Amino acid sequence: MAKEHMKTWTIGKVEVTRIVEVNGHTDPLSFLLEGGSAELMKQYDWLFPHFATPEGDMRISFQCFVVKTPTHRIMIDTCIGNDRQRRFDIFNNMNTSFLADIAAAGCPAESINTVLCTHLHFDHVGWNTHRVNGKWVPTFPNARYLFGKTEWEHWKTMPREGNEESMHLVDSIDPIIAAGLAEFVDTDFKIIPGVRLIPTPGHTPGHVSVHISSEGKEAVITGDLMHHPVQIAVPEMKGNFCMDPVQSGKTRRAFVERYANQPTLIIGSHFPDPTAGWIASDENGWAFRTDPSGV
Ligand SMILES: [Zn+2]
Repeated sequence: MAKEHMKTWTIGKVEVTRIVEVNGHTDPLSFLLEGGSAELMKQYDWLFPHFATPEGDMRISFQCFVVKTPTHRIMIDTCIGNDRQRRFDIFNNMNTSFLADIAAAGCPAESINTVLCTHLHFDHVGWNTHRVNGKWVPTFPNARYLFGKTEWEHWKTMPREGNEESMHLVDSIDPIIAAGLAEFVDTDFKIIPGVRLIPTPGHTPGHVSVHISSEGKEAVITGDLMHHPVQIAVPEMKGNFCMDPVQSGKTRRAFVERYANQPTLIIGSHFPDPTAGWIASDENGWAFRTDPSGV
């Protein structure tokens, strides 16, 4: 496993380990955000060098997080997966070492007892399953898989065939339900004491983030509440992949205001290394600070 793929943060008695599937992919910001540009990126020097290329393109990663507590191992989102047919070339027929990577990180698939998908886009559900002898079977056989009730209401009736928005359900969600491993939960569900969901709708109707608290320390795993740290500076910018961009902007602004200048560690689901940091107000509004001494 490449060294940059793994990183662990400690929040009280809880450990959060990141495993990266696609590291630091670059694309113009306009691919993600309506009106995004290199000029906009260059207004925020704190985006460089981790979150933007010198030319002002965005860097974005695809990754999951394992939350380890004294009693649980919770996989938050499951990336894209191998052997898939997807809408974008870079995600087609991937063949990564993801399963070996999670094992090397001390969390082999059999050790995971809970899977939580923040929402049901293809890049958050892929490794729910893997292909064995031509069949899609659950990757985490000992886990209960938590999906949002509101989220599932949106997806469940979508046509499975010939629809690139929902074709991933066939290989990544339906087999989990067929295996009896799915559990549908509310958007404020408490997974265990100290690990709970917070509703962050907009990107998708039932989108959730994950709040962790232990021994007075706090962290939030964002999911796709935001995709790139520039959205901390400009929360209302419309995401091209958000189902309700206006609600998404409102949710993001409320989140940024709630966690600005707080000691809560914000772990960005698509943020490349160093991935986690703190929201701090500065002369331009808000910034994402990854160096604790700069907060
Ligand atoms: Zn995503």
